[in-house]
Amino acid sequence: MSATAEPMRIAREVAVGASHATDPFRCPTCGGGNVLIEGSYRRNYIEEFQNGESVGKQLEESIEQNVLAINCGDCAIRHILEPDAMFAMREANLQLTMEVAKLKGLNIVDMKNAKVN
Ligand SMILES: [Zn+2]
Repeated sequence: MSATAEPMRIAREVAVGASHATDPFRCPTCGGGNVLIEGSYRRNYIEEFQNGESVGKQLEESIEQNVLAINCGDCAIRHILEPDAMFAMREANLQLTMEVAKLKGLNIVDMKNAKVN
């Protein structure tokens, strides 16, 4: 699915905690404004049943917009938004996986401190 004539080039995908994407019209990584947003709409309702038969349904006026992913045309990254709790668990799981790998004697390169020559 593409809203533009030319598809947006996406080089990689990253998971992002929802609180890190406060403005869905800007890229969470580079702040660029050339984004393609994927999402869904949700509308709550109440439906009453009496003796198993529906006697009325009431739709809420408001429609909730849920942003699922922000694709950036400037840095070519697809940001998949996750609830903050799920993102924190993913981070903790990665950290534990690296600790286990170190205990097993595998060489882990710390990318934050890695230097490119
Ligand atoms: Zn970007």
